[in-house]
Amino acid sequence: MSQIKGKDTKPEILIRKFLFSKGFRYRLYDKKLPGKPDIVLTKYKIVIFVHGCFWHGHKNCKYFVIPKTRTDWWLKKIERNKQLDCDNFQVLQELGWKVLTIFECELKKNIRDKTLNELITEIY
Ligand SMILES: [Zn+2]
Repeated sequence: MSQIKGKDTKPEILIRKFLFSKGFRYRLYDKKLPGKPDIVLTKYKIVIFVHGCFWHGHKNCKYFVIPKTRTDWWLKKIERNKQLDCDNFQVLQELGWKVLTIFECELKKNIRDKTLNELITEIY
């Protein structure tokens, strides 16, 4: 948990492989867009963020557990991440992008297929 946003994390690779297998082509970590979206589907004007449940404070999620030590510090940090996400989404939407977010826990084995199928529905 030493970094906020890792590159090539497992959940991202999973989604990329899935999209690729369905014939979608994408760009990664587009620096020109706010928040550097993990996956950019230019053709569909869609950006996808793959979020860790902890760092992005996934609401009502069992993987989002605030540490018992330095609790205030963590809360502040995560609140700030959430605010940044929110700001980025807003700007992206103003630029005409559709923003999709997938949380790590939504890619756990038992619900992965459901999540990925829903993703496809969102894209079309
Ligand atoms: Zn979660």
